[in-house]
Amino acid sequence: MSTAQRVNRIKPSPSTAAAQRVRELKAQGLDILDLTVGEPDFDTPAHVKDAAIEAMRQGATKYTPVNGTPRLRAAIADRLRLRHGLDCPGDRIVVGGGGKQVIFLALMATLDAGDEVVIPAPYWVSYPDMVLANDGTPVIVDCPEADGFKLTPERLARALTDRTRWVVLNSPSNPTGAVYTAGELSALAEVLLDHPHVQVLTDEIYDEIWYEPGRVPSMAGVEPRLTDRVFLTNGVSKTYAMTGWRIGYGAGNAELVGAINTLQSQISSCPSSISQAAATAALTGDQSFVRDRVSVYRGRRDDVVKRINDTPGLSCTPPSGGFYAFVNCAGVIGRRTPSGDEIRTDEDFAAHLLESRRVAVIHGAAYGSPGYFRVSFATSHDILTAACEGIARVCADLS
Ligand code: PLP
Repeated sequence: MSTAQRVNRIKPSPSTAAAQRVRELKAQGLDILDLTVGEPDFDTPAHVKDAAIEAMRQGATKYTPVNGTPRLRAAIADRLRLRHGLDCPGDRIVVGGGGKQVIFLALMATLDAGDEVVIPAPYWVSYPDMVLANDGTPVIVDCPEADGFKLTPERLARALTDRTRWVVLNSPSNPTGAVYTAGELSALAEVLLDHPHVQVLTDEIYDEIWYEPGRVPSMAGVEPRLTDRVFLTNGVSKTYAMTGWRIGYGAGNAELVGAINTLQSQISSCPSSISQAAATAALTGDQSFVRDRVSVYRGRRDDVVKRINDTPGLSCTPPSGGFYAFVNCAGVIGRRTPSGDEIRTDEDFAAHLLESRRVAVIHGAAYGSPGYFRVSFATSHDILTAACEGIARVCADLS
């Protein structure tokens, strides 16, 4: 059988592949210290599960409107109003099977062959492949650690062409935890205002998991002149520990949302009715547990960052949000393992960590940034401590 070019152009998500590899090793009975995890280690809150059970009992087990139930879209609209001052009616909101699916549909709805999408690197592994799958051309813009891993107005201006359809902004970022300030977003907006053909896809899936006072700013709220050109995406996976429920959403202009609805009507008809009831309960219910969980992440973040920065050869800028640390491992490249093998790349180093100390991380090249690796601190304190000790030992044993 031959597969379509759109499939041949892309590869499976490296983070999903890494998680699968860890599962296989664990199934072989190996004790893996898994820092590849891209989901909260907490459980979905009980009141959210109860809402799903109640929905089933009440017969909410049928197709819903293509773009999601009115109740869920109203809850999302309320959230956008409260957080960002946005007036986004329910018909400009689409609910889909996870933020991932919503982003994919937005690209599918807008890209023609050769259209360009500006993606700052380090990037979430899926963006370039989603663009390629939809016939577009990813334009990767390197954003060095010296710039806080963030896109600057100068770099943005250089990357834009007549073919640019989208700029992707992920804040807080996976993998770096970088968060754009309102001032930084305004400066990027100034550039974008001169290029009216360019839209902005903001991926705000980690917006509740952040470690500074106040809220994470959103481009749609910061620059009203751009609001119509922003497609804001988010979901319940990370904030409410609901990765398996598969609910994400997007809010944008009527034309784009309508096009996504048309696609969704042919692809899935609608997201799961039961998961939508659960997501509604998550968004409208008590939010205090979110802050409690963030303070747990904060403790782990501080500990991991300190341990990494105490390890010769490694360093790490503290993430402002999310539950990942992006570790600079340039200092171990070129060194040798006890068995004499040279560590030539971040991928070699990640493989060596797994082989010698059973510590699983994801190498930076997967995020478009060689010379780094990502650790997730969405895992227990004990695993993190053992893993950081293993990493330190591996570094100490290099010559
Ligand atoms: N965006 C980023 C940056 C992510 O890290 C993820 C999940 O790992 C997603 C979007 C998609 O999340 P979901 O499809 O579970 O809503």
